[in-house]
Amino acid sequence: ATPILTIKLVLLGESAVGKSSIVLRFVSDDFRESREPTIGAAFLTKRIIRDDKVIKFEIWDTAGQERFAPLAPMYYRNAQAALVVFDVTDDGSFHKAQDWIQELHEKVGDNIVIALVGNKIDLLNIQGENSNRAVKEAELQNLCKRENLLYFEASAKTGENIHEIFQKLGQKIPYP
Ligand code: GDP
Ligand code: MG
Repeated sequence: ATPILTIKLVLLGESAVGKSSIVLRFVSDDFRESREPTIGAAFLTKRIIRDDKVIKFEIWDTAGQERFAPLAPMYYRNAQAALVVFDVTDDGSFHKAQDWIQELHEKVGDNIVIALVGNKIDLLNIQGENSNRAVKEAELQNLCKRENLLYFEASAKTGENIHEIFQKLGQKIPYP
């Protein structure tokens, strides 16, 4: 039988940065301009192939409660991977991402692969060369080095880099 590696992956990040949209793009190759924050399914699975083997992602998305309440301990429990998402046009969401990384260290420890995702890159160049970029490159590099993060810039809207995030994460986690 084909071996299956199951990876529990949690989504973290400020409300409206595009967490549910990234999941929708990855799982269903779809995008909605306007999404009710409370409607997204909280749990989805998706299989991908790596080296003739199957990786099954069990994806835990928030149902919007990150706006007003802490996430439940079961949300983090046994998570092997996390996507911490911010909006590349919103500096506040980047600072919030750093808080979520701290939260992960407290709740899960260091035994988790974390990918930082700068989402909404389709909005960067609307008024000229990178005019909407809100986070400095050096700041990003410092954080990724310090916290040992994978880093991706992506767009759930266009689909750019979305599958690459999950492929790379899948490669980082060894078969037992
Ligand atoms: P969540 O609260 O983090 O789950 O964010 P959502 O996935 O609900 O997205 C919030 C809003 O941002 C929605 O209106 C989405 O259509 C929009 N959005 C999400 N991803 C992108 C993206 O890559 N580009 C653009 N332009 N809009 C996006
Ligand atoms: Mg959501």
